[in-house]
Amino acid sequence: MKNLFFKTAKINEFRLWGMIFTLVGMGVMILGTGGILLFGDVGKIVAAIFLVLGMIALFISVAIYFWAGMMSTSATMLQCPECNRPTKMLGKTDRCMYCKTILTLDPQQATTMPEAQSVEKA
Ligand SMILES: [Zn+2]
Repeated sequence: MKNLFFKTAKINEFRLWGMIFTLVGMGVMILGTGGILLFGDVGKIVAAIFLVLGMIALFISVAIYFWAGMMSTSATMLQCPECNRPTKMLGKTDRCMYCKTILTLDPQQATTMPEAQSVEKA
């Protein structure tokens, strides 16, 4: 089974990456602006470069949020068999958003079978 990097639901992982890029983008722009105060005229060039890099990071974060939104509309809604809370999963295998239990729609990979009616397409 493919292991997910953050050991969390894929939708949460996308949100996490989106947040990382937002923070990096803002941090880079703040650093760039700080460069003007520290290095004067040379700092302005550095600040311009940093502002562009920050903008790129922010654009990436927006793209990730947008992509996550698109993905979540096609996500499968189901009730987690472990914690009984409604969760969303992307693809055939994903983790519960709450208890991190690995869920799969593939009967070949399943170790336990929940009630058939608890799985429904959104
Ligand atoms: Zn759960």
